[in-house]
Amino acid sequence: MTRNITCVTCPMGCSIKVEMTESGEITSISGNTCPRGEKYAKDEITHPLRSLATTVRVEGGIYNVVPCKSAGPLPKEKIFDCMQAVNAAAVNAPVTLGDVLIENICGTGVNIVATNHCPAK
Ligand code: SF4
Repeated sequence: MTRNITCVTCPMGCSIKVEMTESGEITSISGNTCPRGEKYAKDEITHPLRSLATTVRVEGGIYNVVPCKSAGPLPKEKIFDCMQAVNAAAVNAPVTLGDVLIENICGTGVNIVATNHCPAK
């Protein structure tokens, strides 16, 4: 079986072809221009990760929401749960850029941090 993956590690966006056995064992990786592409392709097959950028609700702030992001990549299979947790959360103003808004989201060990300020009213 073959999987075609676009490496997003750098703007080159190489098209990488991953050949696998029926049981999912990788037998060859081609199309990557550098070793980072091979690692990206392996991770994509075995343990895909995604970053999360969204907003979280703010109580008592001059804005209703503040932008936030995951402080590191999250397992792809947990992104939906993490989005739900962020959507259900609210923080109190003031919020300062870099504040941890949600610690260890969904048990991933990754924090959700503010990417902007939200002063209190
Ligand atoms: S394989 Fe290397 S050169 Fe190609 S997109 Fe990935 S990091 Fe960039």
